[in-house]
Amino acid sequence: MIRVRFAPSPTGMFHVGSARAALFNWALAEQSGGRFILRIEDTDATRNRPEWTEGIISALAWIGINGDNPVFEGPYFQSAYEPQHREAVAKLLADGKAYHCDCTREQVQARTGSEHRGYDGFCRGRGLTEGAVRFRTPDEGVTVVDDVIRGRVEFPNDAQEDFVVARSDGSPLYVLANAVDDITQRVTHVVRGEEHMPNAARQELLWPALGARPPVWAHTPVIVNEQRKKLSKRRDKVALESYREEGYLPEAMVNYLMLLGWGPGGDREIMPWSEMVPLFRLEDVISSNAFFDEKKLRAFNGEYIRALPLASFVARCEPWLEPGWDRETFAKVAELAQTRIALLSEITANVDFLFLEEPVFDQASWDKAMKNSAVEILTGYLARLETVDMDPESLKTALEEVGLEHGLKLGKAQAPVRVAITGRTVGLPLFESIEVLGRERSTDRLRAAVA
Ligand code: GLU
Repeated sequence: MIRVRFAPSPTGMFHVGSARAALFNWALAEQSGGRFILRIEDTDATRNRPEWTEGIISALAWIGINGDNPVFEGPYFQSAYEPQHREAVAKLLADGKAYHCDCTREQVQARTGSEHRGYDGFCRGRGLTEGAVRFRTPDEGVTVVDDVIRGRVEFPNDAQEDFVVARSDGSPLYVLANAVDDITQRVTHVVRGEEHMPNAARQELLWPALGARPPVWAHTPVIVNEQRKKLSKRRDKVALESYREEGYLPEAMVNYLMLLGWGPGGDREIMPWSEMVPLFRLEDVISSNAFFDEKKLRAFNGEYIRALPLASFVARCEPWLEPGWDRETFAKVAELAQTRIALLSEITANVDFLFLEEPVFDQASWDKAMKNSAVEILTGYLARLETVDMDPESLKTALEEVGLEHGLKLGKAQAPVRVAITGRTVGLPLFESIEVLGRERSTDRLRAAVA
């Protein structure tokens, strides 16, 4: 049975790159009826916070990764397994595969003459019983990480230092704890970010030293921004939560994230999760950088929004509507809005004019629209609005006529009316908007605009 794991450290907001790694693992578990293990790597007590752990769990649940699916296992907390990690260190020591070392960094540098050369093996034969614990790496040959995505990657052993597996206070290091947990949890495939490749070279040695056969390795490509720089939390919007707050649909997000390094083949990109799962293959993941294109993601989201059944679109808009806004009125324009927004959050600015006492005026739009014969248009239309039939066709014909009187085409004549009614120059179709707003409130707004 395929057993994969997703092993985030709760040290910050949940990153879109982590979400992609989680989804690749999830697809593997789901397609094979295997297990997806969630392991929270919470051993760095100085950087962990419980709210980050909660953030991870809720972010995963949002993209569909949760215990409702029987492939989900956990969460396990790495900190609970410290006794096993210590036991593993003791075993490595007892087997002569690791040794104590009391060298300071300065001493090592003084001996090797360089900051970069790494540890020189000085304590290998000293038989110390205290100090940090170092793993004895081979001196010759190469360590091969046979990576499904990156191919055969060779690490010359003479460049691999005897790395530390436990500090002098006995506390085990990440590289060891991670391997021990993977072994205990019977992980078969390690799928994680490319930045862990150096750890794979060490763990390829650690696994057999701990009596286990190394897993299948797969290191996913780096995600880069428009400048082709690695996505970073300083420069880029990387928190999955930010996308959620902006009104991205989880299904659009999942679809897009899966395409960062992988594709279902053919020219189809928009594809629901259930169809992607059977097609996903680690072998097809590319090793070159994957570009996170927010514009494309946005376009995906627009497509997903348009594909929603109306009732479900209405329900999804709920968080962006004020509690006091009349839902029946909203239902009347929801369908018009659905084709016009790319993010759920954009619904607010599209419909608020229906519910507010006065529309939210945007000064730039106002100035732009209120030029030339704007006042005449508004006054003329106001007069007709008193009596015209309140259906979009009649409302439109009336404005066309007013425009003609002033030598303006409908498009130009609409601008001041739209701003007076909605506060903005773009939005829902104007005449439907006037119909829903009603005669009285519409005429009030035109009157206010020419006052
Ligand atoms: N806890 C590690 C991280 O968040 C992941 C380690 C792994 O996947 O092996 O980067």
